[in-house]
Amino acid sequence: MSNAIPTHHLPNIRHLEIHITYRCNLRCNHCSNLITQAPSNETMTIAKLQEMLDDSARLNWPWEWLVLHGGEPTMHPQFEDVCAALRTYKHQHNRDVSLFVCTNGHGDRVREQMRVAARYGVKPESSGKVADPNVSYHVPFSVAAIDTGEDYMLGCFQSSKCGISYTNQGYYECSPAASAFRVFGYEPMAKRLDDVTVDALKAGYALHCARCGYARVEDPGRMVTHKDVKGPQQAANVTRPMSETWKTATDAYKVNKPPVEPYVSSPPRADRIQQPPPKTPVNKLQGGRRIIEM
Ligand code: SF4
Ligand code: SF4
Repeated sequence: MSNAIPTHHLPNIRHLEIHITYRCNLRCNHCSNLITQAPSNETMTIAKLQEMLDDSARLNWPWEWLVLHGGEPTMHPQFEDVCAALRTYKHQHNRDVSLFVCTNGHGDRVREQMRVAARYGVKPESSGKVADPNVSYHVPFSVAAIDTGEDYMLGCFQSSKCGISYTNQGYYECSPAASAFRVFGYEPMAKRLDDVTVDALKAGYALHCARCGYARVEDPGRMVTHKDVKGPQQAANVTRPMSETWKTATDAYKVNKPPVEPYVSSPPRADRIQQPPPKTPVNKLQGGRRIIEM
């Protein structure tokens, strides 16, 4: 096993995926947010979203992407207010940021909300999912490397390409660490943007990647996406495989959810001298961002 972290696997702290709800109108077996296996009605309040945006403005944080994520983000009960808050932040503080909503694009209500998002300059990125739980989209992330004894790398394309994640609890190094690992009740790597650094977020790799199937299929030296992984992806097609670590965690979650109460903010730190985050190590794609499955 290599202990080296390829540079393209470092957390990209210029891209942020914001988990605004775990509600979803689909129940995909392969969901890397565990919507089916660990359902939750948790949603982000506008105040919590605004705190992140206010911190971003105060720190002059050079976000390149802000991406609304879920669950199905268009099912947030105040979705239009969420989009309006993003637009106001962009217009007043960061004209360069690109705004996206990562949606399944399924159903009339979702498609109507996609049009609402577009009106606020939040570009819908639809994965075009359908109401068939057996469709194949994903590598089996819930087969933990520590259960199979396979080698795993520290980190994968998710954190470097898609970016870090924000939830009611704080900041995590990647979307699965934020949304799926909630079943373990893990604390965020940073509770406030003042404390977000590459090193702080990278510290989550040791805990999360050892339990993540994405790490199992990572090939050192190149970026692997779900589209590259034919074998395991097809194997995940019929029913979502889960190794012992995940079975135990999701069974326990159904009985007693870990306490992941929204983090109650303290005032911003006055002693912090914010360094600008490093440049994104990947090129922006023309016409929008590459779709990474939810
Ligand atoms: S994969 Fe996406 S559409 Fe499917 S259940 Fe999960 S969040 Fe919903
Ligand atoms: S937890 Fe999984 S998705 Fe996140 S960086 Fe590690 S291997 Fe990648």
